[in-house]
Amino acid sequence: MGLFGRTIVTFLPFAPRFIVGWVAKRYTAGESLEEALEVMGGLSSEGACFTIDVLGEEIKSIDESQWFIDEYESVIDSIVDSGVDANISIKPTALGLLIDEQLALSNIERIVRKAAGNDIFVRLDMEDNRVTQATIDAAVSIQNKGLENIGVVLQGRLFRTPDDISKVSNLLGRNSDFRICKGIYLEPPEISHTSYIDIVDATNRAIDLMLDSGSYTAIASHDIPVIDHALESLQKRGLGPGKEDPRHNPTVPVRKGKGPGYEFQFLLGVRGNIRRDLSRKGHRTRIYLPYGEKWYEYGMRRLRENPGVAVHVTKSLLMPWTNRR
Ligand code: FAD
Repeated sequence: MGLFGRTIVTFLPFAPRFIVGWVAKRYTAGESLEEALEVMGGLSSEGACFTIDVLGEEIKSIDESQWFIDEYESVIDSIVDSGVDANISIKPTALGLLIDEQLALSNIERIVRKAAGNDIFVRLDMEDNRVTQATIDAAVSIQNKGLENIGVVLQGRLFRTPDDISKVSNLLGRNSDFRICKGIYLEPPEISHTSYIDIVDATNRAIDLMLDSGSYTAIASHDIPVIDHALESLQKRGLGPGKEDPRHNPTVPVRKGKGPGYEFQFLLGVRGNIRRDLSRKGHRTRIYLPYGEKWYEYGMRRLRENPGVAVHVTKSLLMPWTNRR
């Protein structure tokens, strides 16, 4: 990180809460489910669908997980009642993964079961390396109970990712469903790539491996070299808007709310112009939409973990033409 980034991160904790709130407005859909539904209503006209995240992570006592279970159950009810085209994303540490793996698993399963009853997909977000294996194990074991509406996120920057792609896709076959991103947590060099170019190359290789494994592949990046690579890889494999996924014989029917074997995903408020362009060209695009009262803690934590985010955010505010909402 350059001097610019270091300066921002040093002074950020002293920024008045209302200024942080003003910035957070762009990246979060408000504090309540009602506000989130309103934001989705406004954005639906842009051809996007959504994945809803209730802000919060790393609970300190397992009792706190009940609040997240209740909230996610309300989210599922609201998706059904409002008819919005959305699924949900869950941070496993908000359900207790760092406290009690078995209890966390049953908490996650409860949400996945309710979602399955309403034909809604659940994505387990990937957090830092303390929970990589446990998160993958949770997704696989819940699928093994016959719940096919769950998938996991893998991070291009981690050395283990190619191996994880092959293990998970072998275990789950045509039901394996990944989101691939670079990974927001700055992991140590013993286990991850650390330079921009190595992370891009590794993420692109992971996209290819996912596509070749027959897995559903959700490409979550705003970075043009990654998006361009993905578009080229899709084309080479005969995947694209309006085409049947040619990787399976017999063909896998497109699941409710899904694209034909792949989709592109963007964070709320980031590079909307690229998202809209992909959508106009017929690709399925999904907006990751976080909401909740914990926006301040969430924002500060992300900035501390990866100060590069502060540079992106500041650039978006000072040079809005580089990053349209
Ligand atoms: P970058 O090179 O970081 O960004 C490319 C450009 O996008 C930047 O130049 C900037 O213009 C813009 N940009 C990127 N991020 C921001 C931002 N926050 N604010 C403003 N502008 C920005 N990571 C995980 O570790 N686990 C997850 O489960 C996870 N889920 C994700 C879900 C989605 C839908 C997305 C899009 C990302 C997710 N991430 C997750 C974050 C991801 O790993 C990256 O940290 C993040 O997307 C930035 O990487 P990038 O590929 O967009 O490339």
